This record gives sequence, structure tokens and C-alpha cells, in this order.
Amino acid sequence: MDYHNLYIIDTSAILSGRINLTENNYIYPESVISEIKSGNLKTIINSIEYLKIEIPENMYINEVINFAKKTGDYYVLSKTDIDVIALALQLNATIISDDYAIQNVARLMNLKYYGAGIETIKKEIKWKYRCTGCHKIYKNYIEICPVCGHKTKRYIKK
Ligand SMILES: [Zn+2]
Repeated sequence: MDYHNLYIIDTSAILSGRINLTENNYIYPESVISEIKSGNLKTIINSIEYLKIEIPENMYINEVINFAKKTGDYYVLSKTDIDVIALALQLNATIISDDYAIQNVARLMNLKYYGAGIETIKKEIKWKYRCTGCHKIYKNYIEICPVCGHKTKRYIKK
């Protein structure tokens, strides 16, 4: 790992057991830490002296929410997921997450991310957007169908 970079760690990365939680350039959103409620992991987390816990600023949270609403990802993101992405945006950091929804939004926002797993995700989700009115299909995100003016809905390309 590049020590000049900062990394935002999400819950899936912690649960993977594959990252060294004590890396000093790892930053944890407060909501991620509060998701780890009990058990060995909680004990480990509590034992790390200099755990860097941050809360993203509202303007970055709002930016992520607005962006995810446009791409249709908003409804699959949890509050914690949004915090992870917002903090990466705020700190210009790289996300470490195995969560598909986080990775997808990070990619669309041009944020860097890695999976925590040994096996990296080989296939990106390719969304397509279908007009709810005339059923025309668009490859790239478009909110309103220019043909008939209805909203589009996304689906996964087969
Ligand atoms: Zn249409």
C-alpha cells in the first residue's frame, strides 16, 4: 500500500479480516465503527490506540446523496455507505470495500477503491437505463428520456 495515500475503511473490509486494522493511514467513518457492535472485532478495534475516526462534513454527504440519486444507487446505499464515500471525497482518499454498491458509486464518481478480498471483482456492474414510457434503452445514465419525457429506470445488463 502507498503510504502517501489515505484509505477509508468500510464495514465489509473490516469483516473480511484481510486488512491490517492498525495501518496508520487508515481512516474509519464513525458510523462504520458503530456498526461493529460486539465480539472479537470490537475488542480489537477498542485496543487500537490511534484509530482515526472521522465524520464526513455535510456538504460531502449531500454531494454523494445527490449523485447517487441521479444514478439510481441511492436506494441501495445505507447511511454508512454514504459516509464512506463522502469521507473519501472529502479527504481525497481511496476506499477499501467489498460492497458492490459502494464500489459502483465510487467508480462513477471517479474515486479510487480496492476490494478487501483476495479475489478482486473481475466484472463491473454494467447498468442500462430503460425508459418507463417508450421503453427505449440507454447505455449511459440519463434521468429523463429525450424521446418521450418519461423517467428512466436502471437495470443490470445481462
Ligand atoms: Zn421514452
